[in-house]
Amino acid sequence: MDNSIYQRTAAVLAGESLTAEQALSLISKVKKNDSALTALHQGAEAIRQQFCGEQVELCSIVNAKSGRCAENCAFCAQSQHHQTTTPIYPLRQPHQLLEAAKRAEQSGARCFSLVTSGTRVLPGEETDILLRALEQIATQCDLDPSVSLGFLDPQTATRLVAAGCVTYHHNLETARSFFANVCSTHSYHQALDTLKIAQQAGLRLCSGGIFGMGESWAQRIELACSLRELNIDSVPINFLTPIAGTPLENQPALSTDDCLTIISLFRYLLPQARISVCGGRQYQLKARQNEIFKAGASGMMIGDFLTTSGSALSLDHQLLQQAGMSW
Ligand code: SF4
Repeated sequence: MDNSIYQRTAAVLAGESLTAEQALSLISKVKKNDSALTALHQGAEAIRQQFCGEQVELCSIVNAKSGRCAENCAFCAQSQHHQTTTPIYPLRQPHQLLEAAKRAEQSGARCFSLVTSGTRVLPGEETDILLRALEQIATQCDLDPSVSLGFLDPQTATRLVAAGCVTYHHNLETARSFFANVCSTHSYHQALDTLKIAQQAGLRLCSGGIFGMGESWAQRIELACSLRELNIDSVPINFLTPIAGTPLENQPALSTDDCLTIISLFRYLLPQARISVCGGRQYQLKARQNEIFKAGASGMMIGDFLTTSGSALSLDHQLLQQAGMSW
């Protein structure tokens, strides 16, 4: 293993935090030679083994309400600012959401999230439907119920906890310094506020980002450091799948090595977090998806993503077996 990477790995294994400058220096080494890249992945795997073990946490989501979002996130097929062919439908009923949760449980998911498009859910009927669905999932399924409902207020957060919700998901999406390139209809600050409200209500936090939107390595590190400051429990790593009709439709794909290095980088900076590879796994990693755990991931999303299809369950289980991981 490259000597300085070995030293950084030993420090993280001993409980020290890497600074942003140290993380950037790791990346500059990796960019100069292949043995440093191998060393980084080996180090990330050792950190994952020490802090997370060999059991993968699988999660799954349902797009509970799709399309017509007033926000203009550049990557998103559900924004009404973009011309896409994504389906548009109102909030699903509790029995439909419960059925989706039961399917996720049977597939091996330990966490299941109800995800709605839009800035926030409407008080009244929409919130009531979601609370009823959460209560049913919490009492009838053996998995952790989670929601991703846009911006959150303290009253709704308290009601979510009472209904059995365990985790609130809200991605920061990218670094604060890159955010203006991705969205202009809301601020980074609003996302930070929502995470803090969820945390204060007693919800676990799930927040990560999308990579491959044109951000730099320094900005990827900046995002990881912001997540670390917030004490995020679970960090979804998504790789951009360019969608026709969105401003990022022609964004070039990342290299597979860069995708794996992003996972390793996050493992070094967030050694104890559940780091799950979610959207874009199939598109960006293709035949090398089974390397995500060697690169430091400890979780993976199964089933379909919000607006793109996932793999067949049998293929995902095969992938986990090839990688020598249990779930
Ligand atoms: S990512 Fe969420 S907030 Fe942004 S446009 Fe899509 S649905 Fe709306």
